Amino acid sequence: MLMYCKTSSERASKGQGGNKFVSVEITADEGNTVMLQATMECEETPTETIYRLFNGDIQVDTLRVAKGKQETGETMCKQRNCKNVATIGDFCNHCFPF
Ligand SMILES: [Zn+2]
Repeated sequence: MLMYCKTSSERASKGQGGNKFVSVEITADEGNTVMLQATMECEETPTETIYRLFNGDIQVDTLRVAKGKQETGETMCKQRNCKNVATIGDFCNHCFPF
């Protein structure tokens, strides 16, 4: 899952998409003083997407979003009319041709 960032100011708005992390820095004093430095990154695991929000180096929030049911990658036995899962090559234990 990728993240999307929209930055807005008084004069401009700009969208940006498809990032593994997004980082926002808000400054004062013509850019000399950082008031906020926020970064959000995401980590994909087989079962969930984990979003972590940082203020500077300090992690301030975490969001875990469970993924939908994953494809198992199982293939079915290719013997006609057999509904078993293939375990040996393209056949199940019963249909494997010796
Ligand atoms: Zn079979």
